[in-house]
Amino acid sequence: MFEKILIANRGEIALRIQRACREMGIKTVVVHSEADKDAKYVKLADESVCIGPAQSAQSYLSMPAIISAAEVTDAEAIHPGYGFLSENADFAERVEKSGFVFIGPRPESIRMMGDKVSAKQAMIRAGVPCVPGSEGALPDDPKEIIQTARKIGYPVIIKAAGGGGGRGMRVVHTEAALLSAVQMTKTEAGTAFGNPEVYMEKYLENPRHVEIQVLADEHKQAVWLGERDCSMQRRHQKVIEEAPAPGIPRKTIEKIGERCAEACRKIGYRGAGTFEFLYENGEFYFIEMNTRVQVEHPVTEMITGIDIVQEQIRIACGERLRFKQRDIMLSGHAIECRINAEDPFKFTPSPGRITGWHPPGGPGIRVDSHAYAGYYVPPHYDSMVGKVIAYGATRDQAIRRMQIALSEMVVEGILTNIPLHRELMVDARFIEGGTNIHYLEQKLAHKPDLPKGGAIGSKSESKGEA
Ligand code: ADP
Repeated sequence: MFEKILIANRGEIALRIQRACREMGIKTVVVHSEADKDAKYVKLADESVCIGPAQSAQSYLSMPAIISAAEVTDAEAIHPGYGFLSENADFAERVEKSGFVFIGPRPESIRMMGDKVSAKQAMIRAGVPCVPGSEGALPDDPKEIIQTARKIGYPVIIKAAGGGGGRGMRVVHTEAALLSAVQMTKTEAGTAFGNPEVYMEKYLENPRHVEIQVLADEHKQAVWLGERDCSMQRRHQKVIEEAPAPGIPRKTIEKIGERCAEACRKIGYRGAGTFEFLYENGEFYFIEMNTRVQVEHPVTEMITGIDIVQEQIRIACGERLRFKQRDIMLSGHAIECRINAEDPFKFTPSPGRITGWHPPGGPGIRVDSHAYAGYYVPPHYDSMVGKVIAYGATRDQAIRRMQIALSEMVVEGILTNIPLHRELMVDARFIEGGTNIHYLEQKLAHKPDLPKGGAIGSKSESKGEA
C-alpha cells in the first residue's frame, strides 16, 4: 500500500480523501491555493504545500505546480478528486511519466470518455444502449446536418463533444432554428472547451437521470454498485441525489448494471467510474461516462457499505477487487442534498465568512463538509460547501431523517440553498418519487418565491441565515 498520497483538490472532497487515507494509515499531502491556506482541512493533513494564487488556472489547474509538490514531499500517488484536473488525460499521463501513480483510470480511458463522441461510439461497440443521434461528430455540410435531424426527429439537442458541467448544449425544436443553433454551439464549444466539435441527439422530453456506479481493477474484474437517481436538477446541475432510484423495476436496473460492468471489462477500464443514463418509458440511454469519483458517491456508500474512495486507492495500488458482484448487497435508501453557498431565490453565489455553523446529526445522518464557524467561503471556486446525506431502512425514513436534519442545520453569515432543500423534502411529487429532470425548474418557474414557504421545522429566516 502507498505510504503517502498527495490530494490535488480542495474543499469537502479534499477532506473526504484525507479521511479515507487516514483510515488506511496513509499519510497525506494537501496542495492548496493562497485562498485556502487557513482552511482547517489543510492544517489537518500531514503536510501541505501552497501551489499558487487563488485563481484555479495558477493553482489547482497547474500541472507543474502539483507535480513539483509531489516531488518535494515524496508522495507516491496523486488523487485528483472531482472537477479541476480529475478528467484531464494529459495530467494523468504527466503524473505517471513523472513517476507517480495517478489514482484513476488509464489516460487512454480518460481521453476516450472525455470526448463524448468517442465515448458513445465505444459504448455502442460494448453493447450499451445510447440516445439515438448522429453517427459521430456533425459534418460541416448543412444538407447533411438537416438530413440527420430529420432522421432523428425533432426536438433534437446539439451537444459539444468536449462539454461538461451542464454547459455546451442547445435544444432545437424546428428545422428553421437548426443551422444557427449548430453554429452557435460550435463557436461556444471552441471557446469554452477548446474543441469545436458537436454532435446531435434526440432530445428526450421527460427523462430521469439515472446513473450506474462501477469499480474495476487492473485485472479485468468489474462490479457495479447499484444506481443513483439524480433527476432533481437546475440548469443541468444536480441538486439532490438518491439511491436506489424509486419505482424502476430491479430487473431493468440489473440488466443495465451488468452491461456497464461488462463494458468496463471490454474496454479495460480501471478505477471508479459512473455511467450516466437518461431513463424514459422503461428504457435506459447512455449519455456519458465520468472517469472519477462523483460528488454524489456517498449515497452509494450508504446503501452498499463500500468506501468508494478507499477502493479507488486499492485499485490504483494494483490490488484485486475484494468482492464479486454476488457480494454486493444493496440495503436501505440514501438521499443527498448538496449545500451551496448561494442565494436560495436568485441562485447567485454567496461567498463570505460563515459566522455560525451547526451541522445536523443523529441516526443515519452523514455530513461531508469542510466548513465550520469562522470558515471563509472564497469566491473563486464552486459554491458547494458540503453535503448532507440521510440514510434510512426505507425511502420514507430517509426523507423523514433528511427533513429533521435540514430543520436542525444552521448556517449563519452567508446564504445557502437549505431553504430550497427543506421545501423539496416536503414536496408531494418528490415524496411520491420518480420526478423527471425538468421537475425542479418547472416548480421554480411556477413558484419563484418557493423557499419562503413554511417547510417542516423551518423557522422564519432572518437575513443572512440559511
Ligand atoms: P454534462 O457532461 O455537461 O453534465 P450530460 O451529457 O451529462 O452533460 O448531460 C447533462 C444533463 O443534460 C442531463 O442530466 C440531462 O438533464 C440533459 N440532457 C443531456 N442530453 C440530453 C438528451 N438527449 N435529452 C434530454 N436531456 C438531455
